[in-house]
Amino acid sequence: MDRPSRSLKEELHQAPTHEIPSLGCALERRSSCCDGIGYRLQPKGSLTHAELCSCVQECASCFGQNRRMVDGVAKTCRTPAPSRVVTLINNATLPARYSGARLDSFSNFTGNGRDIVQRVSHWKDDFQLDKPRGLLLSGPVGVGKTYLLAALAKSFAAKGVSVRFVDFFQLLLALKAGYAEDKNEAGLLNEMIEVDILMIDELGKGRCSDWELSVLDQLVMGRYNRNKIIVASTNYSLKPLTRVNTHNVSLDGTGSSSTFDLDTSESLEKRITSRVFSRLCETSDFIELKGEDFRRLSNQEKAQQLRAPTAGRRPV
Ligand SMILES: [Zn+2]
Ligand SMILES: [Zn+2]
Repeated sequence: MDRPSRSLKEELHQAPTHEIPSLGCALERRSSCCDGIGYRLQPKGSLTHAELCSCVQECASCFGQNRRMVDGVAKTCRTPAPSRVVTLINNATLPARYSGARLDSFSNFTGNGRDIVQRVSHWKDDFQLDKPRGLLLSGPVGVGKTYLLAALAKSFAAKGVSVRFVDFFQLLLALKAGYAEDKNEAGLLNEMIEVDILMIDELGKGRCSDWELSVLDQLVMGRYNRNKIIVASTNYSLKPLTRVNTHNVSLDGTGSSSTFDLDTSESLEKRITSRVFSRLCETSDFIELKGEDFRRLSNQEKAQQLRAPTAGRRPV
């Protein structure tokens, strides 16, 4: 289940009457089965699986068609239709582990998590598909970057925006496998280029061989040229490479000059090339998440996190 059920008291209070079609679509009654969103999410294998809720399928008013006649006029029950959201979520290939992820359920507040959830929520609220702005979340292992990505993916799908969630390393493996088997790997790459929002988890992970970097370049440039953004997480630093001219700089421009890089060991720019990083800089907001590895906290420490004051949290 994606949302908490309402209390029995609330349910009885509104009770009514699913037998009487004139009261409208099941979606309008916000049934506790799905809290009125019309679909349910659950882990299935390694992915999050969405399906239409039975309250919609059995709706005596629209029979699950999301359209019904009101006073002789055809009316849409909900936009986007729950069936479309189901398709979008299933196409998003979200990891099963994060089927319940929601921004307002984020709970790693060992670092700046509370502030970051606010900033990510603002970014999401300001997002416009015709003038999109990307997002790059950096931070150490276990602070909750993937959780935030998955929560964002779900809320975009719920608004009717197509999303695809990929682990960078797994994507490269899939593309390589397609190439090795002489399948058309361009098909997969094109899917990643065409989707409204591409979410890349662990950007920069892997060997970053020339082949891998050329694939990443195609992907990022393909989306850039279509004015489509990327939302990504990375363990690497977002600090730009600092290039400084050193010795042998000739004043007349005829001599040789050399450059070297400072602080490059953990830099995303070094991992993914300056050309790709530059496109991301231009099109994305950068947010750095700090904190401890939530997976390593004891249950007691996790409980303390959940008891921490929630003031300032925004509904998602
Ligand atoms: Zn309906
Ligand atoms: Zn339902």
